[in-house]
Amino acid sequence: MEVSDKVNILSAAAKYDVSCSSSGSRRKNIPGGVGNASVSGICHSWTDDGRCVSLLKILFSNDCCYDCVYCVNRISNDTPRASFSPDEMADLTINFYRRNYIEGLFLSSAIIKNEDYTMEQLLLTVKKLRHQHRFNGYIHLKAIPGADSRLISEAGMHVDRMSVNIELPSEKGLKLLAPRKKKEQILGSMGNISSNIVQFKEERKVFKHTPSFVPAGQSTQLIVGATPDNDKNIITLSENLYRSFSLKRVYYSAYVPVNDNPKLPSLTGPPLVRENRLYQADWLLRFYGFKASELLDEKQPNFDLQLDPKAGWALRNLNVFPVEINRADYLMLLRVPGIGVKSAKRIVIARRVGSLSYDDLKKIGVVLKRARYFITCRGKYYGGINLREDAIRPRLLDGSSSNGDVQMTMFD
Ligand code: SF4
Repeated sequence: MEVSDKVNILSAAAKYDVSCSSSGSRRKNIPGGVGNASVSGICHSWTDDGRCVSLLKILFSNDCCYDCVYCVNRISNDTPRASFSPDEMADLTINFYRRNYIEGLFLSSAIIKNEDYTMEQLLLTVKKLRHQHRFNGYIHLKAIPGADSRLISEAGMHVDRMSVNIELPSEKGLKLLAPRKKKEQILGSMGNISSNIVQFKEERKVFKHTPSFVPAGQSTQLIVGATPDNDKNIITLSENLYRSFSLKRVYYSAYVPVNDNPKLPSLTGPPLVRENRLYQADWLLRFYGFKASELLDEKQPNFDLQLDPKAGWALRNLNVFPVEINRADYLMLLRVPGIGVKSAKRIVIARRVGSLSYDDLKKIGVVLKRARYFITCRGKYYGGINLREDAIRPRLLDGSSSNGDVQMTMFD
């Protein structure tokens, strides 16, 4: 099989992994220009220092020996198969790089033969790139759960980011849909990467020439909607992962139905709004000081598809509102719908020199059409309605989609 055919098969097969998001951009090169934005499998990602880089996003192989029920590459599917050799993969990457198509590589793989063999092939590829081709660009490598920890540790010394996909958010889900995947193996591989990151960082403080290990950190992906796991289970799992393994990111991927199987839910399309709510909640965990247990509980185990999680929390906790803008502490300001991290910081700084008026809040960037129901300013309430859920809720829904199939924006 020609390498170009392998590229077509294996870049298409990589699209279900969202740990590295696709640009979807299509733009041809122009005379005198360098590079184009539509080569098969090219996507964009962000490095640790915030740079946006274009990556070749591809599988090493889709010839899988596992039979995960939800996956297009499962052994029992009749689908075109292809595998690279480490030389082919390294040559392809370096040629794309030299032509300025890409700045880096996002390499994942199905399980060929077994976990160790697959990890060895991936390791060989990144070693060839780094040593033989002296490739210095960004590499994000999938670690194969259950592979020998020495292989994963060695790979970590050659790449910028690693990820181990959990995919299904519970052990029950794994048993049902991916019986060969084991929770202990997945968490064991994550723990191995996490402890190496810490150890290498500590050593670098003492010995300057200690090599770096996965300097851009590790991430994972959770599939949303393939199993009956509720949002509370998912967001609690994410919270634990951030805490236990210092993950850089948890990515949420709305389940895309590709196989027919009685074990799979019958969905008309991927649950994109649910995916969006989980991203918003994840943001609240990481930057707004919320705990998973505050966002959802046994009584309400799933996010409201019509309201963002922060507005939902505020409506369930009206007893703490309205808050006085000129006195509330930073963390409380962050809990007001319509006030983000930037505007909360600006409020705290601005009020040091004098009390803020309602008009000042507009200039600061507060989204007053949402915040007005939850604040007072110089003691005055500007909501114009009673502080009751049934009164406020319809006003917060304005402009929101109630259609469960539509992708929504991340921010107000
Ligand atoms: S291990 Fe499972 S999810 Fe991964 S490629 Fe193979 S069948 Fe698909």
